[in-house]
Amino acid sequence: MKYADEFRDPVRARGVLAQIEEAIDEIGATADAPVYIMEVCGGHTHAIFRYGLDKLVPEGLEFIHGPGCPVCVLPMARVDECVELAERSDVIFTTFGDAMRVPGTRKSLLQAKADGADVRMVYSPLDALEIARRNPNKEVVFFALGFETTTPSSALCIQQASQEDLSNFSVFCNHITVPPPIKALLDDPHMKLDGFVGPGHVSMVIGIEPYQFIARDYGKPIVVAGFEPLDLLQSVLMVLEQIRSGRAEVENQYSRVVPDDGNPVSIAACENVYEPREKFEWRGLGEIDHSGLKIREEYKRFDAESKFRIGYGKASRIVPEPEGCSCSDVMTGKIKPPQCAQFGKGCTPEMPLGALMVSTEGACAAYYHYGGARPELEPAQ
Ligand code: SF4
Repeated sequence: MKYADEFRDPVRARGVLAQIEEAIDEIGATADAPVYIMEVCGGHTHAIFRYGLDKLVPEGLEFIHGPGCPVCVLPMARVDECVELAERSDVIFTTFGDAMRVPGTRKSLLQAKADGADVRMVYSPLDALEIARRNPNKEVVFFALGFETTTPSSALCIQQASQEDLSNFSVFCNHITVPPPIKALLDDPHMKLDGFVGPGHVSMVIGIEPYQFIARDYGKPIVVAGFEPLDLLQSVLMVLEQIRSGRAEVENQYSRVVPDDGNPVSIAACENVYEPREKFEWRGLGEIDHSGLKIREEYKRFDAESKFRIGYGKASRIVPEPEGCSCSDVMTGKIKPPQCAQFGKGCTPEMPLGALMVSTEGACAAYYHYGGARPELEPAQ
């Protein structure tokens, strides 16, 4: 198949759904004892609800929504530090738009901007670099956030700033990596997981090798998937076929985009600029070993944590979630979003209480927007 329409073809989708139903029957899964498949990536969560796939699959299959939305897992203490930086009179704080509304203890970046802080939305770290060039009397900080997908662009940006010897540019690094939280979830004795739909965009950078431990050490299948409805259905079927035949392997459904060995240029740039932190805090999941990245000593002059004496290892602190917020239970699959007492009442996309309601990739926002989606393959409006 070549065009997006073909990956949304209802006839083909019905054929794959019939095979999914057959596999579920053979495995013997039921509504009371379903097969639990985690879609790791927030983009997949969004696609599942947008196309109503959760309602189309048989009852013996349950999606568990994973921690793969970087905005949703950003701990509140880091948002507070962003606000702290943004409120400095000598700072222009630059960020991707989706981080603007994440609630901090006092306020979000959007509220800080409304209160007078110079917070600017950018589409690329290179935009922040340009702002630094044009404002030599200001300190320009770029809020680097995201998984392996966005890490190469900020790494290349730091390399560029180094080449130009820009002294008023720095990066507040909050990059995180996918394999460590998957391991943490697999180590959680309360987690019920039978297999994974693996992240497509992240894998485009890192390839499929970093997931081998999931099959080898935990005996769980993982299939790296694309983002169209047929990509997801085919990937679910591939996971079920592994379970049905007693296999646990890493497979690549998204091979039209994901090379098995990833993108070596991006990997090299990331390794040159970043190294793993010992620990990093995830909202709802706590601290996870080696799950965050920090800027290497060689590029320390571009590290906002070092420049402004904030951040992890210095002023790091764990800030409790707001009262009534059940984000951690949603993220670990213990409850579904509508089971949170705040869902749609004290927490809406317009006024989010928890991070899962902020980003379109957050499970609560996806439920809120598409929870009532009819089971059809045309996207809900
Ligand atoms: S409804 Fe809001 S508070 Fe409740 S789990 Fe979702 S994001 Fe968190």
